[in-house]
Amino acid sequence: MAEPSRFVNAEPLLSFDRSFSYNNMPFAGFALAVHSVAEPAIMNANQAAQLYADVEAFCQEIRPIEELCYVEHRFNDQVIPLAKRYGLLGMIVPESFGGRGANAAEYLRALVRIGREGTGVRTFFSGHVSIGTYPILKWGSPELQARYLPAAVTGEKIFAFGLTEPEAGSNPLEMTTTYRRVGDRFVLNGVKYLISNGGIADAVVVFAYPEEVPSGPPRRISAFVVDTHQKGFVAENLVAKMGMPTSNTAMFALENAEVPLGNLLGEEGDGFRIAMGTLVSGRLSVAAGCLGVIEDCLAEVIQYSKERQQHGKAIARHQLVQEHIAAIEMHRVASEALLERAAQVKTQADAEPTHREWQRQADLLAAQAKFFITNAAWDSADRAVQVFGGRGWSTLYRPGRHLMDVRVCRIYEGTDEILKLKIAAAVLGKEYEAFK
Ligand SMILES: Cc1cc2nc3c(=O)[nH]c(=O)nc-3n(C[C@H](O)[C@H](O)[C@H](O)COP(=O)(O)OP(=O)(O)OC[C@H]3O[C@@H](n4cnc5c(N)ncnc54)[C@H](O)[C@@H]3O)c2cc1C
Repeated sequence: MAEPSRFVNAEPLLSFDRSFSYNNMPFAGFALAVHSVAEPAIMNANQAAQLYADVEAFCQEIRPIEELCYVEHRFNDQVIPLAKRYGLLGMIVPESFGGRGANAAEYLRALVRIGREGTGVRTFFSGHVSIGTYPILKWGSPELQARYLPAAVTGEKIFAFGLTEPEAGSNPLEMTTTYRRVGDRFVLNGVKYLISNGGIADAVVVFAYPEEVPSGPPRRISAFVVDTHQKGFVAENLVAKMGMPTSNTAMFALENAEVPLGNLLGEEGDGFRIAMGTLVSGRLSVAAGCLGVIEDCLAEVIQYSKERQQHGKAIARHQLVQEHIAAIEMHRVASEALLERAAQVKTQADAEPTHREWQRQADLLAAQAKFFITNAAWDSADRAVQVFGGRGWSTLYRPGRHLMDVRVCRIYEGTDEILKLKIAAAVLGKEYEAFK
């Protein structure tokens, strides 16, 4: 494999299947048949097709339940049982642990489809799979993987990722959660804030500094898998949210929470690297979900604008309505291309984990895709609300729900501002990093 160029690798890695249909919404987006990565895809074509069929069945079944939960403003407690039934809780987990063995590109394609059902539903998968299970898969010891990955696949254990704290958001290095070693355990203390799945998780990936030792060496963050069903773990759901009423967001306190030594991820001091590496996976999941939001907004406006009559004709025939529809379609096309590129590079980076240039490109493209597609989804939802007129400004219709839910995608897993700084630094050079 030739060295990738600085910005664009000219060699196409994926074949593109334009299967998106505006009218009856079959499985959408890009078909990510990776054909030139160093390692072969783990799923064969039949397994991939079966995964997409299961995702489609899950989406069709969850839709009416999600709509009802949304209108009643309550947690959707059917997402986990249905995901379990269709085998979607371990999409990226290797078959040897009972999972589906999807690579990044295949998994992201599934998330595009799930994203159409709402950002709340997709956020559950991001929390459990992309940032919950992923770091165990990447940095867990074989023993830790054997204990947690099969449980993640069956749903016996639901996962979350606890990086953010009340006083440490965009800069996680300002966290105050600490750990100390006591015999055969680590003991953790601190508070994590705004954690997706935090109130329903059985295990959380938690980041902490070692307790301060006077005149000790500079402290470095470590990452742990913390079981939530213990005395030292207290969670509280956060419900005063602008959107995503059907998904769980929580804060939790660790009060002398105990963690077996074997639940350390990587080595002591690897935590920041693990957090940043996990965010590449998380950002791609947000970008994929937002492409699904754009697709759903497009499908909705096409149908509605053809049915709704004003001034003696379907509003789809008014040029200013068409301007909104053209804008959403352009968001969809551009987002799809960028996500496809980011997905192929992440797949390549996963296949060659020691290849630094692939890792660098995957990191940058994930930030670019997340920044661009979340903003495109926000604008698409806003335009879809406008096309629906007064009905658009209602949670009874899909565009209004998308608008409220998708706004958070410009905040979590790296705000717009932090991503812009990262993108600018990649162009200007490391010495221009503004957040240093
Ligand atoms: C619904 C939801 C789910 C979430 N899920 C998770 C989760 O599962 N796990 C987890 O760990 N976290 C999660 N988060 C937290 C999320 O990642 C943080 O909210 C986000 O990183 C921003 O941190 P903050 O809220 O503390 O804002 P702050 O960091 O205080 O930022 C406030 C504003 O200042 C800007 N800003 C900060 N620093 C700079 C700078 N250097 N230059 C320019 N502008 C800057 C920001 O861009 C932002 O606009 C979730 C948040 C929400 C709302």
